Amino acid sequence: MEKRITVIRGDGIGPEIVEQALRVLTRVAEKYGRRFVYQEILAGGAAIDACGTSLPEESLQKCLDCDSVLLGAVGGPKWDGVPKEIRPEAALLGIRSAMGLYANLRPARLFPQLAAASPLKPEIAGQGIDLMLVRELIGGAYFGEHRTGLENGELVAHDDMVYAAHEIERIARAAFAIARKRSSRVVSVDKANVLDTSRLWRKVVHEVAAEFPDVSCTDMLVDNAAMQLVKNPAQFDVIVTENLFGDILSDEASMVTGSIGMMASASMGDGTRGMYEPIHGSAPDIAGKDLANPIGTILSAAMMLRYSFDMPDEADCVEQAVNAVLDAGFRTADCMSEGCTRLSCSQMGDRILGQIC
Ligand code: NAD
Repeated sequence: MEKRITVIRGDGIGPEIVEQALRVLTRVAEKYGRRFVYQEILAGGAAIDACGTSLPEESLQKCLDCDSVLLGAVGGPKWDGVPKEIRPEAALLGIRSAMGLYANLRPARLFPQLAAASPLKPEIAGQGIDLMLVRELIGGAYFGEHRTGLENGELVAHDDMVYAAHEIERIARAAFAIARKRSSRVVSVDKANVLDTSRLWRKVVHEVAAEFPDVSCTDMLVDNAAMQLVKNPAQFDVIVTENLFGDILSDEASMVTGSIGMMASASMGDGTRGMYEPIHGSAPDIAGKDLANPIGTILSAAMMLRYSFDMPDEADCVEQAVNAVLDAGFRTADCMSEGCTRLSCSQMGDRILGQIC
């Protein structure tokens, strides 16, 4: 069975971490008799340098014409001054929007081997963290109208936050369906005491919840959710929330689990095709030094196998390989602790490959 994967190595550490994920995918293909065809495209800063825009038309077409997209990360200080329409991040918004990827799935799991790397007190981290944050990805403030201009003699900026009922309904349905495959508990996060978009969010989520009587649904205000993630993260199974809140809470959830370098994500739409990427950025401070942790990207590739290609054995194999390497005490610098062996990015790739044979 052939699967076409569009690959965006991106900027900063992107090329280093994607290289390790591709090695893992290729080894998995050999082991299970699969065929993955990679088509590489430019997007982000590298595309600005080569083509003057962060998302060339040809690149976008290859995202629309494939079975899934694997991305490292884009951006960096070199492109901070470019016009906002062609900023590296604009490429990601453009791809997500064109592919209709409205659901961002961000698992946040505390690997028991990395408990010492969590900034939480041991008695809190010790209760375990294993949650799925489902973030709405192509609506809300990031996609509303942005404008800055003079009003009454001073500069005023506006960012419109807009949600239509159907946008809330489809992300809520995705979250409830995922919860059914986990512990059947959804916490819907909003700011319904202040925002109209949140009041509509709550109403629609409750309507969808009625279709899933086997899944519990509770509401939580976003400020409380931010507190609960550090006070008692073990309480969460699935969190569903809108774009801006999800952006912030998902970084918080990843941080309490240890290193941001471990965390994978999937962005999905109505079909099986998705875009898979680690949740971190291009880490310009460590780029080109073979220091980055490639595990978030490798686990993103595992999510691609599971969610887009329906290859659960292959996905399990990758996740077990990562677990085995962590069990053996191997770490990249970002999650190093006493008694462990420090590896470079490529050495971590070697170790994980060594577990897939
Ligand atoms: P970042 O996630 O790149 O880095 C934050 C910190 O985490 C840094 O100290 C970095 O060294 C460390 N880190 C991140 N990933 C790591 C890994 N795999 N292994 C080891 N350490 C890792 O966030 P930032 O510094 O705020 O952003 C840098 C650039 O990345 C910016 O241009 C930003 O716009 C961009 N960015 C891109 C994406 C994306 O492509 N999806 C997401 C977030 C930020």
